[in-house]
Amino acid sequence: MKVPFLDLARHVEANRTDFDEAIERTLREGRFVLGTEVDRFEQEFAAYCGVEHAVGVANGTEAITIALQAVGVEPGDEVITVANTCVPTIVGIEAAGARPVLVDVDPATYTLDPSLLEAALTQQTRAIVPVHLYGQCADLDPVLKLALARDLRVVEDCAQAHGAEIGGRRAGSLGHAAAFSFYPTKNLGALGDGGSVVTRDHRTAERARLLRNYGERERFEHVVRGRNSRLDSLQAAVLRAKLPHLETWNERRREIAAVYGEALAFSNVLPPVEQPGRRHVYHLYVVRALERAAFRAALAERGIETAVHYPTPIHLQPAYTDLRPQGRKLSVSEHLAAEIVSLPLHPDLHEDEVAHVAAALREIPSPSATPG
Ligand SMILES: *Cc1c(COP(=O)(O)O)cnc(C)c1O
Repeated sequence: MKVPFLDLARHVEANRTDFDEAIERTLREGRFVLGTEVDRFEQEFAAYCGVEHAVGVANGTEAITIALQAVGVEPGDEVITVANTCVPTIVGIEAAGARPVLVDVDPATYTLDPSLLEAALTQQTRAIVPVHLYGQCADLDPVLKLALARDLRVVEDCAQAHGAEIGGRRAGSLGHAAAFSFYPTKNLGALGDGGSVVTRDHRTAERARLLRNYGERERFEHVVRGRNSRLDSLQAAVLRAKLPHLETWNERRREIAAVYGEALAFSNVLPPVEQPGRRHVYHLYVVRALERAAFRAALAERGIETAVHYPTPIHLQPAYTDLRPQGRKLSVSEHLAAEIVSLPLHPDLHEDEVAHVAAALREIPSPSATPG
């Protein structure tokens, strides 16, 4: 049996009538950038996140840039984030004119280790971007406390965490602002690029609205220097069709994760661990395997496709070697990059595919490798 890592064509087939209806409605309205569909999606998505405001933008990377600018980050400021993230987090920070400062992650959650923040602070530090990686919220309480004490801004990178929770609150509702991506593979994905800034703060939302649309307040009145980063009406309509299903899909992800977790209970391959008080939405199901190459090969032999998110920490990418910090280590990120493997996990997997993966996880590695 073949288990593809992801199958977006299957996802579209399963939701075809909803998408057709949404697209047809938008075509009839004849408005293709912003407009009614975007306004409505913004209200619905803000409500889903438990915040007052959502501002639709062109993609998740620009959502990070615009969120940072909207909370007051300026060129020359330093913004702390993690080494174990995907490159767009860094692209988004640098597009705001800020300098990314990398810290290491917690070995249990693969997200920002708050105990390392103090050592990364300088006079220039203006904001922190915790990344809710793989679908689990970073440990935000200590980050928010430090931010309050040092007058820093917190912008959550929620690109992998639609519907994730910590302390009963949704990802995106805790920081000064947050950035979501609707790239097609995300837990809530469009049929193309899309993103959103969300915030509880009215003024931050207003600034984000200006920034995404040439800084224009009234027609031909430009009050700040903005950019063009708007959400398409067609994408908003498709996102509106999908949003009512997001909870069901996230629950299905959690179900599959539970099946995989059980299959790995006696393995020396480590499953992801949902932390107490957090709701993991398993954007990716990332395990750690000491013998990664052999593990992936054994899965491939059984037709199971895997991936690695991400094989290279930011500071080891050729374009970003200058971001390697002086005198601080990023060894957890470096270590993880050599061991992590992402298994196929998405709501459109069939029951027999899930069972096939679980059976493979029970079989490999061999029982002799099992501790105890
Ligand atoms: C996908 C992603 C982004 C970027 O989103 P785009 O819509 O592709 O620009 C940023 N941060 C993280 C953690 C992501 O997974």
